Amino acid sequence: MSDQRVRSVVVVGGGTAGWMTAAALAKTLSAQRLKITLVESEAIGTVGVGEATIPPILTFNAMLGIDERAFMRATKASFKLGIEFVDWGAVGETYHHPFGTFGLDLEGLKFHQVWRKFSELAGPIGDYNLTEAAARRWRFSLPDPDPSKVMSSLRYAYHFDAGLYARFLRGFSEQRGVVRIEGRIGQVDQNGETGFVEAVVLEDGRRIEGDFFVDCTGFRGLVIGQALKVPYQDWGRWLPNNRAVAIGCELGGDGLTPFTRATAREGGWQWRIPLQHRIGNGYVYSSHHVDDDRALDTLLANLDGAPTDEPNFLRFTPGRRERAWEKNVCSIGLSAGFIEPLESTSIHMIQAGITKLLALFPGNGVDPLEVDEYNRLTAEQVDRIRDFVILHFHATRRDDTDYWRYLSSMIVPDSLARRMELFAHRGRWFPSEYDLFHEPNWLAVLLGQGIVPEEWDPLVDSLPDNQVRQRLSQLSDLIARTAEAMPGHAEFVARYCGAQQGVAA
Ligand SMILES: Cc1cc2nc3c(=O)[nH]c(=O)nc-3n(C[C@H](O)[C@H](O)[C@H](O)COP(=O)(O)OP(=O)(O)OC[C@H]3O[C@@H](n4cnc5c(N)ncnc54)[C@H](O)[C@@H]3O)c2cc1C
Repeated sequence: MSDQRVRSVVVVGGGTAGWMTAAALAKTLSAQRLKITLVESEAIGTVGVGEATIPPILTFNAMLGIDERAFMRATKASFKLGIEFVDWGAVGETYHHPFGTFGLDLEGLKFHQVWRKFSELAGPIGDYNLTEAAARRWRFSLPDPDPSKVMSSLRYAYHFDAGLYARFLRGFSEQRGVVRIEGRIGQVDQNGETGFVEAVVLEDGRRIEGDFFVDCTGFRGLVIGQALKVPYQDWGRWLPNNRAVAIGCELGGDGLTPFTRATAREGGWQWRIPLQHRIGNGYVYSSHHVDDDRALDTLLANLDGAPTDEPNFLRFTPGRRERAWEKNVCSIGLSAGFIEPLESTSIHMIQAGITKLLALFPGNGVDPLEVDEYNRLTAEQVDRIRDFVILHFHATRRDDTDYWRYLSSMIVPDSLARRMELFAHRGRWFPSEYDLFHEPNWLAVLLGQGIVPEEWDPLVDSLPDNQVRQRLSQLSDLIARTAEAMPGHAEFVARYCGAQQGVAA
């Protein structure tokens, strides 16, 4: 058997995906003496957005051995406890999608079923989630590692400056031997018989050869799409947003909130992501319903402070590559697909792609069975995220614009329709092994968007009412007291990882 071991990897592209991939390969495959090269073009640049994350990012940084304070200082980060949704179920309504769980199951019965029966006197379900209780009070503290403490239930992620994160990871990767090449790729050379990629060729003629390629070229999909012609599934019929305009502004208004705010607008939605030195803002919209000028006007009219840079217009097609890995090319990041940023899932999908690539890294040659497995797992995971994101747009009572009328009446994927129906009837929800978002996430959004189950699990009726009422009231009191005792988020950030003196409160 010929020796086809992978000795050199070329990471094509140096945005968040490229540098996360290079850093992870350099860290975990260092014993294999792998030659890792990253090619990027400053002239092309990166998308330059992508500032909100979800909790698994902590695992990624821990895998790299990154110190949290150093990372937060370098990326001017703040903590994120979840997302505040404004005007989604109906204009005037607000809810939180917090990280972490709601309440505690009672006698083997799901907490939300018990809560549903007593909901009139139990108060909002968010009163039973410590992460939400802290977010609503704009407070933060690190979780307690002792699982017997209520503080152990707090979950968090980060808001950070995406450009600074890529720069941070570049330093990390270069220290571990990754070689960066600056230049614009004009051509991809493939083997005439197998179609495997042999090299990328820069416009100045330099040829960068490799045994394995990771396509991190963003929406261009230079290798996976343009060279290997792997088709892209377009999900525009369910996720019509296909444009965004982003701009930074000075920290003002509500300041350093420990949550992302997503405000529904006439033809899309607006994000507000507070960092230590500025707020990241953007309007994600459907070009079928709103034009660019109107989108920019809406965004500029809804900033907390003076703009700090020029507006950045972006175009995208929601969907995914039919096969993320083809031959000796694995696509990671926007080249593999993009679900619009409502639930901050893109950076996580980069992480998930890297984790699977490491688990299935080629031994003696690329194994088609393993490539199939990578593609199957990726497709399942992305399709489940797609359903969760569609839920936010579809489960609405808004009918004030064509955009919202279209979204509330469209036919959604069967997998989502079934989950919504089961929940609306009796609060039933069953996991799939591919879910990134679990029952508490779905509960927050289903209830938040106004889908309250008609009935509850009949087994709840076997619990003694008095005892249940008492448990509920003890639990919500404990959570409220614990949240009240935390320091303010801005104060915590300034003390723990302030990038400069005097972070605005
Ligand atoms: C509006 C919007 C908001 C978003 N918000 C979030 C968010 O809040 N949270 C989140 O997790 N994600 C978010 N994302 C997604 C996030 O921005 C991306 O997942 C992330 O930045 C990774 O991008 P990338 O590295 O795949 O691509 P890019 O950043 O586009 O990088 C591509 C790289 O390829 C290089 N390249 C391309 N062509 C060539 C060539 N011919 N020669 C040489 N080099 C080349 C470029 O120079 C660049 O280095 C958002 C995306 C958009 C569009």
